[in-house]
Amino acid sequence: MLPLGHLSAAYLLTQTSKKLSLKEVLLILLAGIVLDFDIFLGIALNKSHHDLITHTPFGAIIVWLILIFIFSKSLSGLGKVLVLASLFLHLILDEAGYWLYSLGLQSIINQPQISWFYPLKPLFDRLISSSFYSIGLFVWIYLNNARANVLLEIILFLTALIIFILNRCPKRKNSKNC
Ligand SMILES: [Zn+2]
Repeated sequence: MLPLGHLSAAYLLTQTSKKLSLKEVLLILLAGIVLDFDIFLGIALNKSHHDLITHTPFGAIIVWLILIFIFSKSLSGLGKVLVLASLFLHLILDEAGYWLYSLGLQSIINQPQISWFYPLKPLFDRLISSSFYSIGLFVWIYLNNARANVLLEIILFLTALIIFILNRCPKRKNSKNC
């Protein structure tokens, strides 16, 4: 899934509680995309970044511990739980591409993406797709072949956008700004 879909899903997660501070909302959004920063390491190692420790539940928990250590003063108990949920939601959405392929809804992402049971089971060890060397080419292939994924991204984005607008304009009829 592309960063826009991940961010949209993380935003929807922030809407499950009205008690979150702005800092907590921003940290939950960050947790929704932070795992993908390993893409640069994946390119450097010539490996799919989905095969790195960072894209496992084990890695997500380590990232979570680092985040709550750094931002311990900014996070309530609920905030900490939702940051962890946002990290796991990222993994689920990355794996969803394979599930959608398995259902026959798209023609690429034909292998599992996440090593769910690491370290009990070894990581996948796959070479990086050559299309990854060009972001533009990768996005083009993705948009044309991962259609169910793209549709899911659009649904997530539009849902997040509608909720964002509704939140900004709670009294739409009386507000001149909406
Ligand atoms: Zn990812």
